Amino acid sequence: MPLDRKAVPNDLRAFWMPFTSNRQFKSAPRMLVSAKDMHYTTADGRQILDGTAGLWCCNAGHCRPKITEAVQAQVAELDYAPAFQMGHPLAFELANRIVDIAPDGIDHVFYCNSGSEAVDTALKIALAYHRARGDAARTRLIGRERGYHGVGFGGISVGGIVNNRRFFGSLLTGVDHLPHTHLPENAFTKGQPENGANLADELERIVALHGADTIAAVIVEPMAGSTGVLLPPKGYLQRLRDITKKHGILLIFDEVITGFGRLGSPFAAQHFGVVPDMITCAKGLTNGVIPMGAVLTSAAIHDAFMQGPEHVIELFHGYTYSGNPVACAAGIATLETYQDEGLLTRAAQLESHWQEALHSLKGLPNVIDIRNMGLIGAVELQGIDGEPGKRGFDAFVRAYEAGILIRVTGDIIAMSPPLIISEAQIDELIGKLAEVLKSTA
Ligand code: PMP
Repeated sequence: MPLDRKAVPNDLRAFWMPFTSNRQFKSAPRMLVSAKDMHYTTADGRQILDGTAGLWCCNAGHCRPKITEAVQAQVAELDYAPAFQMGHPLAFELANRIVDIAPDGIDHVFYCNSGSEAVDTALKIALAYHRARGDAARTRLIGRERGYHGVGFGGISVGGIVNNRRFFGSLLTGVDHLPHTHLPENAFTKGQPENGANLADELERIVALHGADTIAAVIVEPMAGSTGVLLPPKGYLQRLRDITKKHGILLIFDEVITGFGRLGSPFAAQHFGVVPDMITCAKGLTNGVIPMGAVLTSAAIHDAFMQGPEHVIELFHGYTYSGNPVACAAGIATLETYQDEGLLTRAAQLESHWQEALHSLKGLPNVIDIRNMGLIGAVELQGIDGEPGKRGFDAFVRAYEAGILIRVTGDIIAMSPPLIISEAQIDELIGKLAEVLKSTA
């Protein structure tokens, strides 16, 4: 039997789906079979307006010819090449292009294959950096409550989501968490909230407790995405930068979601005017087409490793697929697409329309907060007593039936459409969401 790529398969049992209620899904599958620009098509032939850019990754929309053709050409020319003690031109070319759009002071690129790998790579680089400089006692890592840093053991240790932590043993030791920045008094703020910059000062308390000379790095999402779009209060990131610098602690921004134009500049670091020592990225790097992640570092970090005899391997870390040629081709074509179409700054142009559309949902049933920045937004719903996440999941299923793709974390709806979205499509997305919210009353 030839494979029918457009039909629901007869047997769904073998695939154990990630972050999914498998039994629920398999009883009523939501099957996507093709995509173009702003839309998915389902197996039953319906169009779904993509309100989430896949999983925050298809920033240029779907099946863009330039990216598709680059991947097709590359896979026929050089499908795979090792990056250990070998190289191919595209890996160097893409790294240069990433550095070109990165904040000033970020000069080097280490490749991996996902956001989770980027996080674990950055944490390892932080630890090895201090050791390389003779500061081997700096081993503590600091994350933040409600932070999401992927699913590796490093990432779930510095992350702050109970369900990502509690099933998996004792995790990394020597990890502390800053408080999250989600304050009730900031509810319904448009853009960055006023209150809460002082939450960064908690870092001073952790430093006082352990001693600065034991702390390697602080990792935060400049804007937390996966835990429901939690915005940094005005001045908060600057304070974190000041305190980390004062104590010789590295600052890592996890930009897996905010990288590549989500907030209206290439990276959130530029948007907030705060340059960290390292940036982790993935997702939008290849428009989601081929898995790829990267850690971007300052010259100071990179150069600290380049000291011993030349034949020595400087960092004992890397992946079989680091800098895979097909992923690099996708990355180059993606960055060209972003630049040709002005997508790295487009969220800034759409921000006020997006903000007003989103905040028009205020007053609808169960809406207890709305948050937005760049082309990202969240609508927080009042959970049902004793059944957390049920109202959110119900909204997600109804939205899919109504022809829009949203994402829910618990009872928080998050949206991050492709950066090619038009104002009319924003109105359609939010209009349909309004109907869904009314129907769940
Ligand atoms: N860090 C952040 C900030 C993320 O949002 C994500 C994914 N949503 C990750 C890391 C993990 O990325 P991946 O799923 O590619 O491993």
